[in-house]
Amino acid sequence: MSDSQKLLMIVALQLGLYGLGWAGAALWLRESRAAFFAMLGFSLMTALGIALLSLREVLPDAHSRTLANLCVLIGLVLLWRAAAAMWNVRVAPTLLYVVPALGAAGTLWGGFIMPDYSVRVSSLLLTCSWVATLSGLSIRRRVQEEFGRLPAGVIAGCGVSVGAVLVWRTASSWWSGALRELDLTLSGNFVPVVVLLSSLALANFALAYSVIARMVRRLEHLSRHDALTGLLNRRAILELIEAEWQRHRRHGTPFALLVLDIDRFKRINDRHGHATGDEVLRLLATAFGGVVRRTDRVGWMGGEEFVVMLVGTDLGQAHQLAERLRDGVAHAAWPADVAADGGVTVSLGLAMPGTGDTGIGDVLARADSALYRAKEGGRNRVVVDTAADVTAAG
Ligand code: GH3
Ligand code: MG
Ligand code: MG
Repeated sequence: MSDSQKLLMIVALQLGLYGLGWAGAALWLRESRAAFFAMLGFSLMTALGIALLSLREVLPDAHSRTLANLCVLIGLVLLWRAAAAMWNVRVAPTLLYVVPALGAAGTLWGGFIMPDYSVRVSSLLLTCSWVATLSGLSIRRRVQEEFGRLPAGVIAGCGVSVGAVLVWRTASSWWSGALRELDLTLSGNFVPVVVLLSSLALANFALAYSVIARMVRRLEHLSRHDALTGLLNRRAILELIEAEWQRHRRHGTPFALLVLDIDRFKRINDRHGHATGDEVLRLLATAFGGVVRRTDRVGWMGGEEFVVMLVGTDLGQAHQLAERLRDGVAHAAWPADVAADGGVTVSLGLAMPGTGDTGIGDVLARADSALYRAKEGGRNRVVVDTAADVTAAG
C-alpha cells in the first residue's frame, strides 16, 4: 500500500469515527434522531467510499472506483437529508432522490454495464455537484434564522463551492480532452481535494455545533423559566431587575415594579383542589401577555406571587397598566367551578425607584408594602407607593 493510500485509509477511519459519534447521538439524544441517523449514514458511506479508493490494488481498479463513487454520492445525499431534517426543511423527493438516482444509474452504467470512463466520471461529478450545491442553498435561510448570516453564509458557501469545484473539474477535464477521476491524491487535485475534505469536516462540525448550541439554549431556558407558568423564575427576574436598577442609576432611565398576589388563593385550593389552583396560576400567567408591553418582564416569585418590571414608564402609565391588569384578571374566563365561586381577583403594589433607595431591595420592599396595603384595603385593588421621591436618579 502506497503512502497516499495509507493516508486515505486514515481519512476513512476518521470519517468512520465521526459516524460512531453520530450513532452515540442517535442513541442518547431523543431530538433530531432522523438527522443523526442520516449523519451516521453519511459518515459511514464517505468512509467506505474513501476506503475503497485505497483498496484499488486488491479489487479491480474500475470496480473499486465505481463502488467508491456510489458510496460518496449516497453519502452526500444522506448529508443533505441530515441537514434538511436538522433544520426542518422540506425537500422535494424528486430533487433529493430522483436526480441523484439518475446520476447513480449513470455511474453504474459507465462503471459496470457499458464500461465507459467518461460516462461514469461525468455522471458522478455532475450529480455530486448538484447535491452539494442544492443542499447548501436549501438550508441557508433556516440556518440564518437560527444562527445568523455568517454561519449560514459559510454553510451555503461550502455547498456551492464544492458544487462549483466539481463542475469546474469536470468541464476543464473535458476541455483538455482527458477526463480525470477525482481520486483524492493531491497531485493535480490540490484545490478540489482540499475543498471537498474540508467541507465534509465542516459539515460534521456544523451539525454537531448546532446540536450542542440547541441543547445549551434549552438548558438556559429551563434554568430561567418556571415549569408551571412558563414565566421567568425568581432568579431570572431578579437578575433582570438588578440590571435595570444599574441602568437607572447610570442613565436615569425610569422603570416601575409591580408585585401581584392572588386574593384568597388558599381558599381556591381548598375548595376546588390543588390542580385547579395550578390551572389558575397557568391562566393568570397568560393574562399578562395581553397587557404588558414586549419590553416589560414578568416573573413568578413563588407561591401565588408575581412581579412585573415595567421599563421606560412613569408612575401614571404604570398605574394605568396595573389597573388594566387587575380588571383583566377580574373579568377573565376562569374554570367554570372557580368562576361560579366568584372568579379570581388580584391585589397589586406598585413602586418606582426613588432618590433614597440604595438598592433594588428597597424598591421591592416598598412595592411589597403597597401590596400589603392593597390586601388590607379589601383586595382586588392597586396601591401605588408614594413614600419615595421618584425623580429620576442621575
Ligand atoms: P391573600 O388574599 O391574603 O393573599 O390570601 P391567600 O390565601 O392568597 O394567601 P396565603 O399566603 O394565605 O396563601 C397562599 C396559598 O397559595 C397557600 C398555598 O396553598 C398556595 N400555593 C402556593 N404555591 C402554590 C402552587 O404552586 N400551586 C398551588 N395550587 N397553590 C399554591
Ligand atoms: Mg394570595
Ligand atoms: Mg401570597
